[in-house]
Amino acid sequence: MASILLHDKVFKPYIDRKEVEAIIDKMASDIAKIDDDDLLVVIVLNGSMFFATALLQRIERPWEIDTMRLASYHGGLQSSGQVEFLLDVKAKVSGRNVLLVEDIVDTGRTLAFLYDHFKGLGAQKIMTATLLHKPSQRINDMPIDYIGKNIDDAFVVGFGLDYRELGRNLPAIYVLED
Ligand code: 5GP
Repeated sequence: MASILLHDKVFKPYIDRKEVEAIIDKMASDIAKIDDDDLLVVIVLNGSMFFATALLQRIERPWEIDTMRLASYHGGLQSSGQVEFLLDVKAKVSGRNVLLVEDIVDTGRTLAFLYDHFKGLGAQKIMTATLLHKPSQRINDMPIDYIGKNIDDAFVVGFGLDYRELGRNLPAIYVLED
């Protein structure tokens, strides 16, 4: 894997494709055991689109899948600190268990926002699956049920994660070169 230029920044290989696939295989087999035939799976766009696709195609359960769209980085390298709500789910949430599929949990603000949102819609139990997690950045202790990999505080792209909308389609994870 070679380094890659996205706009004005160089990103170097961080987690290779094989490891990403192995992480997703393991998580899929864990999630497939969830004891609920009426689970609602929510893909939190845009960042989790590639991860969620790979994950859910490995799970042979006929679960309803819906999407919602949020934005928090607004094109930069740092979280803006504000979660912008762009598109809500259409599915019925009330009384159901919900699994949120996230690309990365950084401060945990988005997670807290999502918990409040789905509680407000009447969700029974809210579970979260994330490909990546930056434990050192957390400002709250919202629980995460499925974590692919814990990483250091670094800005990463690939597998759905972008830098100013580029890099999402990289089939592995790259990190900003210092
Ligand atoms: P949080 O609300 O947990 O601080 O941030 C979550 C969101 O920030 C993620 O869903 C993602 O969109 C964005 N984010 C956090 N860390 C990174 C990163 O290292 N790279 C990219 N591309 N986005 C990130």
